[in-house]
Formats: sequence, C-alpha cells, structure tokens
Amino acid sequence: MGNQEQVVLSATGIRKSFGTLEVLSGVDLTARTHDVISMIGASGSGKSTFLRCMNLLEIPSAGSIAVEGEEITLDRRGDRTKLNARQINRLRSRMGMVFQNFNLWSQLTVLENVTIAPIKVLGLSKREALERGEAYLAKVGLWEKRSHYPAHISGGQQQRVAIARALAMEPRLMLFDEPTSALDPELVGEVLGVMRTLAEEGRTMIVVTHEMAFAREISAEVVFLHKGVIEERGPPAEVFGAPKSERCRAFLQRVL
Ligand code: ADP
Ligand code: MG
Repeated sequence: MGNQEQVVLSATGIRKSFGTLEVLSGVDLTARTHDVISMIGASGSGKSTFLRCMNLLEIPSAGSIAVEGEEITLDRRGDRTKLNARQINRLRSRMGMVFQNFNLWSQLTVLENVTIAPIKVLGLSKREALERGEAYLAKVGLWEKRSHYPAHISGGQQQRVAIARALAMEPRLMLFDEPTSALDPELVGEVLGVMRTLAEEGRTMIVVTHEMAFAREISAEVVFLHKGVIEERGPPAEVFGAPKSERCRAFLQRVL
C-alpha cells in the first residue's frame, strides 16, 4: 500500500470566519491510519471549530478536506457554499464525533442511542444493529446499562455510551472534542480509559483535550493551536518537554 492510501484525513489551509472574526487562519493537518493526534490550546483558539469543520458541521471559508483520498467539493458561489449531500453523508459516516456534552438522545435508551444511526444511516437490520450495538456497549463496559435512559446513568457512563454510539458506525476516524471537560473529576478516568483502549487498538483519532498527561501518553503528534494558527506541533516529548514556541510554553505553564 502506498503512503497516499494510508492518509485518512487531510486538511489543507483550513480557514473559518464568523462574520468579521477569523477563527481559523489556515490550518493543515494530516491523520494517517493509527495516528492519535492531540490538539491543545487556550479556550477560544479554534479547536472545536476545527473539528466541526472536519465533519462539516461548520463549512470552512477556505481550504480543502480529503477523506481517504476523496476531496470534498466545497463549491463556493459568492457567500454560498454548495455541498454535495451524498459526499457529506459519506464523509460523516467515516468520522465519529464525541462531544463535550455527550449529546445523547434523552428519550432513547442507551442501546437505542447506539443502534439508531446504524439502522437509519447505514441501513442495518434491527437485528444486526442490536448485535453490533450490544458489542460496542460491552466494549465500553456498559452492556448491563443497555435498557437505561441517559438521565439514569452517570456523566462518565453517558460519555462512554456516546463513544459506543460513534464506534457503532465503524468510522475510519474518531474526533473527540474535550470529552472529559464536562465530567466530575472522579468520572474522568473511566472515559480516558476507554479512549486509551481505542488508541492502543490502533484507531485513528484526533483528540481535543485539556488532559495533558493523557495527551502526552497516547499521542503520536501534539498540535498546539493559538488564535487559529498551529503555533507548534511535534511528538509529545518535544512539545511538552521542550516547546519551541514561547506561547506554547506559557500555555503549558498555565495548565500543567
Ligand atoms: P475552542 O474550542 O478552542 O475553545 P472555538 O472553536 O469554540 O474555540 O471558538 C473559537 C472562536 O470562535 C471563539 O472566539 C468563539 O467565540 C468563536 N465562535 C465559535 N463558534 C462560533 C459561531 N457559531 N458564531 C460565532 N462565533 C463563533
Ligand atoms: Mg472547544
């Protein structure tokens, strides 16, 4: 297999403005199979916007995105961007996203949360989806909770369900946006534990996190974003151990 085939996600020159505020000013990122990339940076530096641009929850103002070599057509006419709906669905089905606030469906059981998209989006039969859903719930240690409603399980358990739900789509790439930031401290570990397992399995992941020790431990590459620009990037030992950028050093001093 050539190197090109191993690229799962390639983002080039990603820009995003909200009105006159430019939040991303040309971000490049390549994720290859088995890469775990951590994205760190101060609040407001554009981390969430970048992840949201990757699965087109936000439409980049400029730049290009290719998933497994397929470039997404961002056809701009004036201030309108025309997207190809089938292409977007294909892109989204290849990326699983885990949000800070879990975003589970409160009126659905844990198991239904995990099976609904495989049935509705992937067209699995109910039986296939149940089998798959139960397997991923078992993987995150929550098979026993499958009949519960989200309100009746802890935040850490809800986030693990959200991870199982994303995994049930069998994506090529997992995007995590501060998955432990909304959790009470005693619940952080169980979620990081699941993510560590996924990293060890060789899943391709981009993780926005404030958990620096975790980022250092699991990442192949750490990216420090400052005001919509990648200020520093490299192996965790370098970024954490000997940051070149003064801003990165100051940021790490504040958070470590
Ligand atoms: P981070 O995740 O690094 O904290 P965000 O990507 O959430 O940063 O936000 C970066 C900047 O973009 C912030 O100034 C935020 O207020 C702004 N922003 C994010 N989303 C929107 C939006 N939908 N409309 C206007 N401004 C936004
Ligand atoms: Mg954010």
